[in-house]
Amino acid sequence: PTVLREVIIEVPEVHWDDIGGYDTIKQELREIVEWPMKYKHYFDELGVEPPKGILLFGPPGVGKTLFAKAVATESGANFIAVRGPELLSKWVGESEKAIREIFKKARMAAPCVIFFDEIDSIAPARGSRLGDSGVTDRMVNQLLAEMDGIGTLKNVVVMAATNRPDILDPALLRPGRFDRIIYVPPPDLKARIEILKVHTRKIKLGDDVNLEELAKKTEGYTGADLAALVREAAMLALRETIKEKTPKAKPVSWKHFEEALKRIPPSLT
Ligand code: ATP
Repeated sequence: PTVLREVIIEVPEVHWDDIGGYDTIKQELREIVEWPMKYKHYFDELGVEPPKGILLFGPPGVGKTLFAKAVATESGANFIAVRGPELLSKWVGESEKAIREIFKKARMAAPCVIFFDEIDSIAPARGSRLGDSGVTDRMVNQLLAEMDGIGTLKNVVVMAATNRPDILDPALLRPGRFDRIIYVPPPDLKARIEILKVHTRKIKLGDDVNLEELAKKTEGYTGADLAALVREAAMLALRETIKEKTPKAKPVSWKHFEEALKRIPPSLT
């Protein structure tokens, strides 16, 4: 019972529009996860096997979790997020049971997307493991068994994220497991413009703010960094407003972004 309480089923509210840029990845995910869930009958009729597991890899903060949530939202599925390190710490001595519970809950909540964040922490390659490798061995085996067992029940989709695909147990990447691997790169200029647009959607911007110009100045910033940058600039405008007690809130202007750029550095080099 203690284990069950830990598995939280979410109904995510992240839409494709909430993710700036990355059109190709969005399209790919749509085809490999959304379609099999939405149009299961066509896949069955045509005899096409959709992939069971999708691995997203890329640096921290590029939106891997966001993609997984959008997949769930847009295909009308529930969402169960599990962080690898959490599995190891919270379920000490009960690792296989934890994995079993997660899949059981997912089947009950189907259609459902299970998302394993930082999967490398529970499934590092044999030999490369530090600490108690017995635990991770048992987890990998249970995970593989559960994924093999999904079989015809295609309404449970397993997604995972890592920034270290190289240290993953290769058994996980075999056909029928995480057989789709998608690289989520740092956002390029175009993606940064789109991400900035998403995060300033509800923000009162000054006339002097040019998001394209701002995007040019943010090479090395991830989506998470850009979100932080906008928040910081907005806070600066807010502080000014409160300090001066202007009747109307001051818009977030270029000087606020310039100051925010100094305070929020890029996380990638
Ligand atoms: P980690 O590996 O650290 O978990 P991640 O790749 O899963 O990182 P997310 O947690 O999805 O990254 O992103 C963190 C936050 O950054 C998001 O909640 C969102 O606010 C913002 N963000 C990241 N990428 C994008 C994007 N492409 N469009 C809009 N917002 C983004």
